[in-house]
Amino acid sequence: MSAEKRVVSGVQRKSDRDNIALRPRRLDDMLGQDRVRENLSILIEAATARSEPIDHVLFYGPPGLGKTSLAYVIANEVAGDIRVTAGPAIERAGDLAAILTHLKKGDILFIDEVHRLGKAVEEILYPAMEDFVLDIVIGKGPAAKSLRLNLPRFTVIGATTRLALLAAPLRDRFGATFRLDFYAEADMQKIVWRAARLLDVEINAEGAREIARRARGTPRVGLRLLRRVRDYAEARADGVITMAATQAALGLMEIDELGLDDIDRRILRIIIENYGGGPVGLDTIAAAISEDSATIMDVYEPYLIQLGFIDRTPRGRTCTRHAYAHLGLPIPEVAADDETQPTLL
Ligand code: ADP
Repeated sequence: MSAEKRVVSGVQRKSDRDNIALRPRRLDDMLGQDRVRENLSILIEAATARSEPIDHVLFYGPPGLGKTSLAYVIANEVAGDIRVTAGPAIERAGDLAAILTHLKKGDILFIDEVHRLGKAVEEILYPAMEDFVLDIVIGKGPAAKSLRLNLPRFTVIGATTRLALLAAPLRDRFGATFRLDFYAEADMQKIVWRAARLLDVEINAEGAREIARRARGTPRVGLRLLRRVRDYAEARADGVITMAATQAALGLMEIDELGLDDIDRRILRIIIENYGGGPVGLDTIAAAISEDSATIMDVYEPYLIQLGFIDRTPRGRTCTRHAYAHLGLPIPEVAADDETQPTLL
């Protein structure tokens, strides 16, 4: 099963598209991420007071935590138009030039997966971000002429799941960089509650808490679970999302009480049962579950690390005793001088 098809994956799927209606519009509608919101509101207020567009902003963190939503929120707050694109969608330097020449002062250019921009495209983006100029070359060979166009002052908002893959010169051109973390359960509960209200779904407090508990601290997953439980409640119960309906619906989908699904459990089992708890290389795990390493790193692993089930060590991944306990497996005795599994000590 690919990452996109998993119910508990933070990666966007087609069925998530009507989430757009649920997207927060103002900074105050965004729940959680308090530190990021506070910093953004300062950035926006200060720039507005100076009648200047805000500095370029970079968001990074696992999928589904609100990077795109924040870009829309910022555009709303500064009353700019937003142009949305993604690293892989801008294939040639000319594609970016076309986008840049259509921007107006104060507009937002949102580039998702900004780490996947090509080299030639990045070369155009650097002077555009730094000096608001676009250098274009007309013609070829000795007759080629270079032309410099001035661009209006605009704001690039970049989003990435992999900060480490971002070229250093590009990273440096963002005036503000924010990391988005998994949401606390109380914030997830509010998000689920708010979405249920907007979707006109009846839900009680225990139902919202149970969905929040299993949503992996990820709003996109929470909203998806909400929809699946609503289906269950409508088809098999009285339409109200309760704790019992949530447990039954998510039990059928094999999503456990921490929000782990079959693939998460397989990753843990491979490390524990095939490699004695690790360390084991990412590529080996990837081959064993037929996924690519990048997907494991971006999508599966962050939450398992956040739960304290997996440790990243220089020699590979290890499972901690919490993972053994969660799977109901006996926790192995580890010699005090065994450095391969420090977390078991
Ligand atoms: P990302 O760009 O990080 O993958 P998105 O911004 O697309 O994530 O968010 C995924 C979904 O979660 C959106 O549909 C949005 O409605 C919802 N969402 C994200 N963050 C919040 C939040 N803080 N409050 C309420 N809803 C949120």
